[in-house]
Amino acid sequence: MKLHNTLTRQIETLTPLNPPNVALYTCGPTVYDYTHIGHLRKFTYDDILKRTLTYMGYNVKHVMNITDVGHLTGDTDEGEDKLEKGAKKTGKTVWEVAQFYTDQFVSSIKKMNIIDPLVLCKATDHVKDMIHLIQKLEQKGFTYDTPEAVYFDTQKFPDYGKLSRQSIEEKKQAVRDNVHLDPNKKHPADFALWFKRVGRFKDHSMRWNSPWGDGFPGWHIECSAMAMKYLGESIDIHTGGIDHIPVHHENEIAQSEAATGKPFSQFWVHHNFLNVEGEKMSKSLGNFYTLNDVEKKGIEPMALRLLYLQAHYRQLSNFTWEAVKSAQEAYDKLKEFVITLRSQTSRTMLSEEKLQKVDEYRNRFRESVASDLQLPQGVAIMWEMLKSSIPSGDKLDLLFEFDQVLGLRLTEVEEVNIPEEIQKLAEKRFEAKKAGNYEEGDKLRKEIESKGYAILDSANSYVVKKK
Ligand SMILES: [Zn+2]
Repeated sequence: MKLHNTLTRQIETLTPLNPPNVALYTCGPTVYDYTHIGHLRKFTYDDILKRTLTYMGYNVKHVMNITDVGHLTGDTDEGEDKLEKGAKKTGKTVWEVAQFYTDQFVSSIKKMNIIDPLVLCKATDHVKDMIHLIQKLEQKGFTYDTPEAVYFDTQKFPDYGKLSRQSIEEKKQAVRDNVHLDPNKKHPADFALWFKRVGRFKDHSMRWNSPWGDGFPGWHIECSAMAMKYLGESIDIHTGGIDHIPVHHENEIAQSEAATGKPFSQFWVHHNFLNVEGEKMSKSLGNFYTLNDVEKKGIEPMALRLLYLQAHYRQLSNFTWEAVKSAQEAYDKLKEFVITLRSQTSRTMLSEEKLQKVDEYRNRFRESVASDLQLPQGVAIMWEMLKSSIPSGDKLDLLFEFDQVLGLRLTEVEEVNIPEEIQKLAEKRFEAKKAGNYEEGDKLRKEIESKGYAILDSANSYVVKKK
């Protein structure tokens, strides 16, 4: 299995630390607003990564967090807590806000056929673990305390900046526009591990006791504490959006490696963004769509999934209504293939040549997905295989095998119930055609079509479907 590693900027072969296990941590949502189709693309590709690893024979231990406290409106310690802001806006409690959006997130990922992580952990359930980690950093001299917060001292960690490849001076520039700066902060790149309930946070409703007073954890420490709790001090793969590279993931590396003295994650995998009609998605532009908005237009979640798979995860992809409609048509075609192939389950004896073809398609598919998740290629190979001359039974087997990675719910495709009257007409037509009575056959086909059904012919059989 080969993956692009942001740490080295190279495509490298994965060698798990404890084979056949692969420890995978994927940054989850901050539950202060709806999960939109841009988020879903990221979660779908995390799922593709997990399914590919499983397909390659690994045993994936997958942990995902739910951030329900500590994520500020700015990534670098400025602004308000996103959850508290959401609560103020809606007049609900922060806990209600978190629950509402967590439910919407969970229902969206279920509809997208994303396999549940082994552990889905809420930050608010793990504050003790975070406090322990901060204490460890404190004992090792990586922190300092101000009246506002406990900070990680980035200048004490020589590797700081290794993920984004920004020097600490460049980081200083990047955060110079902060609205709020603690005057006691030693360096602008230093980040809060623990926020105290003072100043701008004096009314913060989510709060816990800690050795540094009442307060709440910073966003970055959450991921480090939960990843290490469930997966150990060193993990194999950590994923997130490309926006997480310069701050969130840089900080996760700093605090985790400073605490343990060990490399935190071997691989850092980053997903690119999704634009909508060529523009960045935003509420003010009115192009902020959830799965619900897509479904309202008659598009199935699996068609959206197929659309995602047509662009590589490191590519900036573009959602358009036209493209998603084509994806729905392609998905309908795929379902038709399943129904047709199922009706032709007869398996001819395979010639040596055909057996080789089956292997060839399998190998090409495997190679594509294992080469840094080349899903657009994998999907193209699937279509090529479906149109090939290999026997239908083997086609169906291969298609279902590929679907272990694609996750398009192809094994669940059901035939629509065709009324008996139509079935009888179709049978009559098939008999007429077999007997060489094409005129009669054509007449019956037209009759069937006028009743809203269509016939798909193949060499020795046929399928009836709703038009
Ligand atoms: Zn994270």
